[in-house]
Amino acid sequence: MKLILPPGLSAAKLDKALAAFAGIVGEQWVLATDEDRETYLDIYAPGDEEAHAPSAAVCPATTEEVQAVMRVANEHKVPLWPISRGKNFGYGGTAPVMSGTVVLDLSRMNRILEVDPKLGYCLIEPGVGFFDLYEYLTKNDIPLWMGIPGNAWGSVLGNALERGFSSTPYGEHSASLCGLEVALPNGELVRTGTGAMSNSKTWPLFRFGYGPSWDQLFVQSNFGVVTKAGFWLMPEPQSTLSMSLKLPNPEDIGWLVDVLTPLRISRLIDHNIGITSYMGSATTTSQRAEWYDGKGALPDGVVKAIMDKTGAGWWNLSLKLYGLPEVNEAHRKAIEAAFSAHTNALFAITRWNRGEKGPGGAPRPSVFPLQIVNWHGGRGGHLGFSPALPANGKLVLEQLERTRARFREHGIDYSGTFYISGRHVINVNIIIFNRDDADLTGRTRALFRDLVEDSAREGYCEYRTHLTYMDQVAQAFDYNRHALMRLNETVKDALDPNGVLAPGKSGIWPKSLRGKRS
Ligand code: ADP
Repeated sequence: MKLILPPGLSAAKLDKALAAFAGIVGEQWVLATDEDRETYLDIYAPGDEEAHAPSAAVCPATTEEVQAVMRVANEHKVPLWPISRGKNFGYGGTAPVMSGTVVLDLSRMNRILEVDPKLGYCLIEPGVGFFDLYEYLTKNDIPLWMGIPGNAWGSVLGNALERGFSSTPYGEHSASLCGLEVALPNGELVRTGTGAMSNSKTWPLFRFGYGPSWDQLFVQSNFGVVTKAGFWLMPEPQSTLSMSLKLPNPEDIGWLVDVLTPLRISRLIDHNIGITSYMGSATTTSQRAEWYDGKGALPDGVVKAIMDKTGAGWWNLSLKLYGLPEVNEAHRKAIEAAFSAHTNALFAITRWNRGEKGPGGAPRPSVFPLQIVNWHGGRGGHLGFSPALPANGKLVLEQLERTRARFREHGIDYSGTFYISGRHVINVNIIIFNRDDADLTGRTRALFRDLVEDSAREGYCEYRTHLTYMDQVAQAFDYNRHALMRLNETVKDALDPNGVLAPGKSGIWPKSLRGKRS
C-alpha cells in the first residue's frame, strides 16, 4: 500500500517522527514499507481500503515505551491508533478510522502478570491472546474459565475494550475489567480504581474505587491507551447442563424472546442466550455455490434444503446451566415447563461434571467460525451489523422482518443471531461478501447504511460498529443537540489537545479534525 499521509502532516515530518519512534522501540519495530502498510489494512474491508490505510506501525514492548511514543506523537502531531492484537474482524481489524494514522501495535506486550485462582482474576497486558491465557490456565491446572468470543484469535483486553461478549456467566467482557493502567494521550500514566493508591491491595478486586469510576471511560473510546488491566475469570463450576433446541419458523423468535427474558433477568439462566439462524452451520461448512448460483438472496426453497441437509432449525438455540447438578436439574425443569406452552420440540441435553473430559467443560478458543468468509469464495470478508433492542418479542420480530426485507432488497443472504442478554437483545447480523466482487461489496455497503438508518429511526443503536460507520452511528445520539457528543469532545479536548489518539474512534474527533467527520 502506497503512503497516505494524515491531514496536515508532511512526509518529512512523518519521517522525523518515525525516526524518533525507532529511537524508542528499535528500528525493526517501526514498520513503514509498502508491504508493512499492506499488513495493517482491514483484511475484511468492504471496498475502499485506502479510506482507512495506516501510514506505518510502531510496536512498543513496555509501558514506558508506550509513554515515550505518545510524547513523540504529541511533539510531531502524529495520530496513533492503538490495537492489542488487531483481530477485530468485521469491525476494522488492525486499521484506523483516519487514513495516515500510525498503528500503535501492542501485541508485543503479552505478559500474564498475575493469576489468582482463589479470587478469580488475572492481571494482563494488552497483547495476551485468548489462546495464550487458555494455555496458561490449562498448563498450570488453574480451575478458572474464560468467556471466549466466536473468533478467539484476538486479545482478551482488546476484545473487552470493544465490548466483545461470549455466552457464559462472565460473558459481558467489558464488565469483567477491574482496574486499568492507562497511558493518557500526553504520555502520563494513571491507574484507575484503587490502583491509584501506590500500596493498593484491591486493584483487580474492587472495581469502583473512590469518587468517579473511570474504567468504562476507556472502553470504546479514544481517551487513553490501556497498558495493563485486571480481568475477572469464572471459577470452574461443579457441573454444567447444556440444552439445545431447534425451531422451524422465523416467527418463533417472538415467543422465544418473551419466554427466555424473565428466565435471563432472574438469572435462572445466567448468561446471554444465542439464537442463531439456519445459516450458522451452512456458512462454516459449505460454500454458497453448493446450494445456489442464482442472483439475489437465497430463495425459501434453498433455505429449506439447507435446513434439511445440515439438520439445522430456522432458529437454533443453545444455553447452559452452571453449578451444582441438583440445582441445574431444577432449573432445567423450570425451563422445559416454560417452553412446553409454545412447542412440542424437545431440548437435546448433555451433562458434564468436574474432572470429565469432553464437551460441556471449559470453553476452548477456536478460529473455526472465521470459515464463514469462504461462503462466496474469493477474498472473503464480513461486516457485523449489531443493534441492541429491547427484550420484547414483538419488537424483536419486527426488527427481524425489517432486516430480512433489507437483505432481500439488496440481494444478500440473511444470517443473524439474537443474543438475549437480559433487558436487551443484541442482534448480530453477519453480512458476508467477496472482496473481489465489486458489485457485492457495493450492495453490502448500501445494505449496511440502510440498516443503520432504519434502526436509528426505531430508536436502536449498534453496540459496536465498523470504522466506516462510526460517525453515522454516533450521529443518531442527538438528544439535546448532540449533548453527549459535546461532552465526549470536551473530555477529548482536555485529555488530548493535540488530537493524537485514535481520531474518529466512536465518532469522537479532536478539535482540529472535526471537519473530517463524515
Ligand atoms: P483484538 O486484540 O481482540 O483483536 P483489537 O486489538 O482489534 O482487538 O482492538 C479492538 C479495538 O479496541 C481497537 O481498534 C482499538 O480501538 C481498541 N483498543 C484495543 N486495544 C486497546 C488498548 N490497549 N487501549 C485502548 N484502546 C484499545
